[in-house]
Amino acid sequence: MHDPQLAADGRLRHLLTLDGLPRARIESLLDDAARLRAQWRTQRALPPLLAGRSVVNLFFEASTRTRTSFDLAARRLGALVINFDIASSSTSKGETLEDTLATLEAMDADAFVVRHRENDTPALLASHCRQAAILNAGDGNRAHPTQGLLDLLTIRDRKGRIDGLKVVICGDIRHSRVARSDVHGLQALGAAAIHLCGPTALLPAGAAFPGCVIDEDFDVALTDADVIIMLRIQRERLEHATQLDGAAYHARFGLTGQRLARAGHDALVMHPGPINRGVEIDSSVADGAQSAILDQVANGVFVRMAALAQLLAP
Ligand code: ASP
Repeated sequence: MHDPQLAADGRLRHLLTLDGLPRARIESLLDDAARLRAQWRTQRALPPLLAGRSVVNLFFEASTRTRTSFDLAARRLGALVINFDIASSSTSKGETLEDTLATLEAMDADAFVVRHRENDTPALLASHCRQAAILNAGDGNRAHPTQGLLDLLTIRDRKGRIDGLKVVICGDIRHSRVARSDVHGLQALGAAAIHLCGPTALLPAGAAFPGCVIDEDFDVALTDADVIIMLRIQRERLEHATQLDGAAYHARFGLTGQRLARAGHDALVMHPGPINRGVEIDSSVADGAQSAILDQVANGVFVRMAALAQLLAP
């Protein structure tokens, strides 16, 4: 079946998910991001690849890192950015999202960065776009492709490769779009083993993550891990009945210095943020020498530049 995010000639038309995105496309996004990063860091300036383009941020859920970094990425490449204020817009008067999109597209908006609590909203909007591009900034528990890309770039920088690595992802896997996009990207780039850890209530049905090892024992999973990705418990997506006790959770699944030692001194520690210190990760680990958490944040700006440039640059 044709992938709606690729044009007939194989170029990127939208960025909705890493699921099914060809390895060469993922690698070209990472390579472009690394090139833009090198240029930015040496010259503090970038070519205006997006001059004359307008990017609209449509965030229907809270965001710190993703929204700010899309904004910076677009502006640093010369685009005009509109941070659409949902609370004061006509969507609050009952206008459908499709009509809002058509209205903004009629004003020649070139790209929409969309975050929504419902799975598939970005894909639905993409099917209504005439020429604008949709960038998924996180939909429900389904996909967060730019987070996946920034995680891949961070791992590739620090480990030199993705091929052959053992990666452990621990936390609220069931509700995590980050886990899904990470898994899709890691599998596309040849990771050897991906272990998904967490309490039963937060683990997905095995079929949701083909090719991954589901593991309730974090200590066992950590042995020989090259990369450990910790996730927040997404309380906003939990039914009341499955609310968890933070201290009990920390005792079994919190990444402490002692636990990290099981993985080895060169294991990389990652977290997409926001972090709940003392719950899924201790401060000594989050701020420690093995942590790449702020590198992830920094890389977020560059992968978003790469995606915007591949979608919009002439
Ligand atoms: N910031 C990430 C997301 O939007 C992870 C999280 O919220 O825990 O999915």
